[in-house]
Amino acid sequence: MTRIFNNPADFAEEALAGFCDLHSGLVRQVPGGAVRRHRPAAPKVAVLAGGGSGHYPAFAGLIGPGFADGAVVGNIFTSPSAQQAYAVAKAAHSGGGVVFTYGNYAGDVMNFGLASERLAAEGITVENVLVTDDVASAPPSEESKRRGIAGDFTVFKMMGAAAEAGADLADVVRLGRKANSATRTIGSAFAGCTFPGAEAPLFSLKDGQMGLGLGIHGEPGLFDTDLPPAAELGRELVSRVLAETPHGAGQRIAVILNGLGSTKQEELFVLWGTVAPLLRAAGYTLVMPEVGELVTSLDMAGVSLTVTWLDDELEPLWTAPAETPAYRRGNTSAMSGALLTAETDDDGEASVSFSATGSSREYAARCVASLEAARDLLHAEEQRLGDMDAVAGDGDHGRGMVRGIDAAVAAAADALVRGAGAGDVMATAGDAWADRAGGTSGVLWGAGLRALGESLGNTQTPDAKVLSGAVTAFAARITSLGKADLGDKTMVDALLPFAENLARRTGEGAGAWAAWQEAAATATSAAAATATLRPLKGRARPLAEKSLGTADPGATSLAMVFTVLGPHLAGAAAPADEQLAAGTKTPARAEAGAAV
Ligand code: ADP
Ligand code: MG
Repeated sequence: MTRIFNNPADFAEEALAGFCDLHSGLVRQVPGGAVRRHRPAAPKVAVLAGGGSGHYPAFAGLIGPGFADGAVVGNIFTSPSAQQAYAVAKAAHSGGGVVFTYGNYAGDVMNFGLASERLAAEGITVENVLVTDDVASAPPSEESKRRGIAGDFTVFKMMGAAAEAGADLADVVRLGRKANSATRTIGSAFAGCTFPGAEAPLFSLKDGQMGLGLGIHGEPGLFDTDLPPAAELGRELVSRVLAETPHGAGQRIAVILNGLGSTKQEELFVLWGTVAPLLRAAGYTLVMPEVGELVTSLDMAGVSLTVTWLDDELEPLWTAPAETPAYRRGNTSAMSGALLTAETDDDGEASVSFSATGSSREYAARCVASLEAARDLLHAEEQRLGDMDAVAGDGDHGRGMVRGIDAAVAAAADALVRGAGAGDVMATAGDAWADRAGGTSGVLWGAGLRALGESLGNTQTPDAKVLSGAVTAFAARITSLGKADLGDKTMVDALLPFAENLARRTGEGAGAWAAWQEAAATATSAAAATATLRPLKGRARPLAEKSLGTADPGATSLAMVFTVLGPHLAGAAAPADEQLAAGTKTPARAEAGAAV
């Protein structure tokens, strides 16, 4: 249970602000996260860790000499936005290039990828290193699909040490990937974690049970079993990690026994009393092992065991000094550079001016109204969408959609009063959505709305075909970014039927409103039909079996949102020429507004 908070939606931001105040000698808060207080004396590679909040000391607690140069800090269990990653990189970059490093989650991959594109376009060299240590989340043959959990810590540590020692970007990346290939983790959960303000944990276990193969976003274990005595639990964890010993691995290992949030340090010592002798009996030398909270999951009860197999290159990186708010090792005094005196500019985006025709501005007001209708709907459905996501994902879908739509409505309304046309209103709304919502669905919705706006343009009241073209652009952006196919159990399973139906019916000459209603009905049944699918993309994939019987939350919200956008967007569309000629009437605007 999380008991100390103000507005639960502000928890992550307020925690970061308090943390930065306390550790102001080491870290400095910047838009999107935090960076080191001290600038390196000479250009060095900036190692930027990142991901959602709720994992302290990962990731901001690991900023400092010998470790990370900065952290990009998302909302709880939610990927930071591309804008946040970009802003932190700009603040941390000292001329040696940037490497983003994070656990392998779709939302993070997309957001850090988009930020990388933007930095590269400005001439900053940037690379991404993904951590895939969780042996429970995919079989060895699909190692690249594994998610990142406590192995984040050893991989980030080694990259930080390499950058501190003066390695160039290519070498930091090579060593980071090597460390990741040498790292394996298995976790076990005893009780789920609870979001600030939530009434119930994201999952619960029956008394006397534990879940093996947990995730760090409140994803439950892959399978439940009776909670064994400590000695047996230790054997289980050790044997599962050693079963995945990398090919050609040596006998020296870094080991982490990690507490997930509400497991006592003494309990960890009891478990260590079993784990360490077993590892030694297997012939291993344990190099500077760590027992404690290093990568947590709010107040989850549970433990994870991480092993990184060392070699002559990795061992000195593991044992090198580091000094961060949450972690200190050896003497780092030789590392610190000069105090940064000038505040780095934040992104400093100038306010944009808009140009649009009168008719596009009129339609822009309908766009704002459509987003407001979506906002009311998503607020009403927040809990249900979260519950659906908690079945096999991390339970944040409702909250993410609400954060996204609230930001989108505010930005759209602001753009409207500043004279924006329909295209700019939707594109601006999309940027705000992506920036505030985070997560997989946030980046996709944001990028999709921007594409829809760009397709609508700022000169006309769209007719059925223009509107359908804009929806097609929305869908194309989401599939090109997320790379999901039909049947993967994602929002794409509702979106493609919607876009295709709309395009076909408008191609046949149907009016915008009639075609939209049909498309919405198709999307709604397609979303419901995802209940029979196993997820092949996104956070729910490792728990595919648990997801059977529940519809995909992203597909469900997409069908609902497109349904309520319809009366405004399609109801206010311009009649097509041929319809005018045939005297067909489109619905009056007032009538359309009442049709929700
Ligand atoms: P996160 O998965 O980061 O927690 P949300 O919970 O907000 O983000 O959204 C989950 C939804 O995102 C899923 O239900 C699915 O519809 C959608 N999704 C996940 N991965 C993809 C993808 N690669 N392409 C399209 N949609 C995706
Ligand atoms: Mg989620």
